[in-house]
Amino acid sequence: MLYGGIEAGGTKFVCGIGNPQGEVLDKLVIPTTAPKETLSKVVEYFMQVQSEHSLNGLGLASFGPLDLNPHSDTYGFITSTPKQKWQHVNIKGELEKALNCEIYFDTDVNAAALAEHRWGAGIDKNNVVYITVGTGIGGGALVNGQLLHGLLHPEMGHMRLGENNAKSDFAGVCPFHKNCLEGLASGPAIEAQWGIPAEKLPDDHPAWEMEAKYLAEGIANIILILSPEIIILGGGVMRQRKLFPKIHKHVQALLNNYIQKPEIVENIEDYIVPAKLDKHAGLLGAIALALNEGES
Ligand code: ADP
Ligand code: ZN
Repeated sequence: MLYGGIEAGGTKFVCGIGNPQGEVLDKLVIPTTAPKETLSKVVEYFMQVQSEHSLNGLGLASFGPLDLNPHSDTYGFITSTPKQKWQHVNIKGELEKALNCEIYFDTDVNAAALAEHRWGAGIDKNNVVYITVGTGIGGGALVNGQLLHGLLHPEMGHMRLGENNAKSDFAGVCPFHKNCLEGLASGPAIEAQWGIPAEKLPDDHPAWEMEAKYLAEGIANIILILSPEIIILGGGVMRQRKLFPKIHKHVQALLNNYIQKPEIVENIEDYIVPAKLDKHAGLLGAIALALNEGES
């Protein structure tokens, strides 16, 4: 049984094939340029794959915002992204037409939540939140075993944080909101606040305590709203493992013993955890989408 996956990202597309055990058997990285150019390379790759193997399904995990409503005229489109060239691109439809097969489609972060549920840190949990902290901040959620959509899909990165938390003269880098989580705590936000790229900041820099506070405030809100059984953090910034104990401490302080569950009060290090599938996370997310639909 083989499944195809496409991880559509703002800087690169990752195409590949995998099996139900979560093993990636082949992979191709394509830089994200203009939609026509990038998508034609994706099509070329899967034409080649289809000539050699029979795929049981193909999944597409994309940056957004996306239209995921099957009743909408623009179902399958990337919608209002700040990446100008990719605005209103019918990514699902164009790939389906060229490859002559159905493609299972969701946000990159919903797909990552599903992959972590299937093979990673969220096994045996039916209520999983996955958050990426990278160039942007995004969150995906599996609720009662189903990926959460709704009006649009979760946009956890843009929740507003209390202003007393912010560095007094910094309202964030988000062009839409002041003091939103992504604007304050994404990789580019760290660099904008401190003048140094996140990966170059020394371990004892005050940026890390502040970063952990921002992330903890967002996470505490998510715990209160969605009541997840596990929160999985991935993305470039979370390679800084020292953030985890700081986040744990701040989440406990913010919740202030209100939620009296051992997961939070006693074993929070097993509740807010790093992503396990880091290496192929995005691609496995796309493959998990294909597997999920194939089984339902
Ligand atoms: P993307 O979000 O574009 O998919 P990443 O998840 O790798 O990609 O996020 C890129 C961001 O993460 C950049 O802003 C970069 O500064 C930051 N980043 C990458 N590696 C590290 C690291 N080791 N420590 C801290 N920040 C990092
Ligand atoms: Zn915002």
